[in-house]
Amino acid sequence: MFRRSIYKTQAQLRSMVEPGLITAAALDAVRPLVRPGVTTLELDAAANRLILERGAESNFQLVRGYRHTTCISVNEEVVHGIPGERVLQAGDIVSIDCGAQYQGWNGDSAITVVVPDDTRPDVVARREELSRVTEGSMWAGIAAMASARNLGDLGAAIQGYIEEQGPSAVSGKTYGILREYVGHGIGRKMHEAPSVFNYRTPDPGAEIKPGLVLAIEPMVTAGGEQTFVEDDDWTVSTVDGTDGSHWEHSVALHADGIWVLTAEDGGAAGLAPFGVTPTPIA
Ligand code: MG
Ligand code: MG
Repeated sequence: MFRRSIYKTQAQLRSMVEPGLITAAALDAVRPLVRPGVTTLELDAAANRLILERGAESNFQLVRGYRHTTCISVNEEVVHGIPGERVLQAGDIVSIDCGAQYQGWNGDSAITVVVPDDTRPDVVARREELSRVTEGSMWAGIAAMASARNLGDLGAAIQGYIEEQGPSAVSGKTYGILREYVGHGIGRKMHEAPSVFNYRTPDPGAEIKPGLVLAIEPMVTAGGEQTFVEDDDWTVSTVDGTDGSHWEHSVALHADGIWVLTAEDGGAAGLAPFGVTPTPIA
């Protein structure tokens, strides 16, 4: 069987810049709409509108059996939540995953937003901390991609970052990392080889070298690591009912350095704490 190389040419990497930016813009369009009273379907529609305006199409809609532009996962749902009539409440923690395909190339990115709630500062603090730790672990993985030799180093960096944070300062509980769901290569298809584990593995994994494009996407819980799939056959929720958070960026390693395709600034702000400066793809 023919297997496409996991390493892309510089020209192919350039083709991935625009779908990355469109994906970023779609999430930017949704972010300010996340407030009490909005339905997840309304958020999904806003993402779809932006993607179509930019002359792209939703790659989530190209996944067999899926009709939406985003996955929106609320509270104990971690990933793959289906947009619908659910009305967001103050204090909800909401993970939004979205992707665009443009001229045959794909972007994939996710953010977590906590809906403001003045009446429950403790709940908001706990959920914002979970989101911060998850986002930080994603940046730790992206930073590792800039210098690591093998994919396994990247998973170790993500897990290491989460462990360094220690137990939650608010709840005292140790964070969990989903094991059954992982990051992936991305390119002509949204999901390509190799798998990107968010934890240490015995196998060093593929070599990290220019041409590699990865969707790095830690899925972290405020408690246990066990999940189940809801009756809708998509939504992945925690067994113990603790909250989940999901952050994701599509990232290219190229001849001159690293570039986060789904960030307007190429990842400059997120990578700064790690001493890594992104370089645009020439
Ligand atoms: Mg995604
Ligand atoms: Mg992904």
